[in-house]
Amino acid sequence: MQVRKEYKGSCLCGAVSFSVGGFSERAANCHCSMCRKFHGAAFGTLVGVDGLIWLSGKGLLKEFTASNGSIRTFCMECGSGIGFRVKGAAFEEIELAIALFDDEIPVVIDAQIFTKYKANWCELQSELSDFPEARV
Ligand SMILES: [Zn+2]
Ligand SMILES: [Zn+2]
Repeated sequence: MQVRKEYKGSCLCGAVSFSVGGFSERAANCHCSMCRKFHGAAFGTLVGVDGLIWLSGKGLLKEFTASNGSIRTFCMECGSGIGFRVKGAAFEEIELAIALFDDEIPVVIDAQIFTKYKANWCELQSELSDFPEARV
C-alpha cells in the first residue's frame, strides 16, 4: 500500500492549518511591491499545491483584492499571509505562502521575479535566474 505524502502548514497563531499532497515544479521569490507589503518581507514566495485540505480555521480566512484584481488571503486572527490567486481564479486555485509550512518540503526555489521592483536594501541571489517582471 502506498502511503500518501502529506505536508502540513499553519499560520502564526495556529488557528489556520492545512495539508497538501504535492507542489508545483517551479517556485520563485517575488519582489513585487504587493508581495513585499503583504508578507511584510523583502519578498514573498508562493507555491502551487496539489490536494489541499483545510484542517482548521477556514472560517478565519479573509480576502483582500488588490487594485490589479489579484486576491490575497490572510488569517483574520494573526494577520499571517496565507495565499495568493490571480484575478478571477477560483478559491481552489490558491497558491500558498511557502513560509507557512511546518514540515520540510521538496521545493527548490528556481527564480527571482519582479526584481525591477525590489527594495534597494535587498540583495538578489546570484545563483537564481532573475526576471525583471513575470517569469517568461
Ligand atoms: Zn492565524
Ligand atoms: Zn509578487
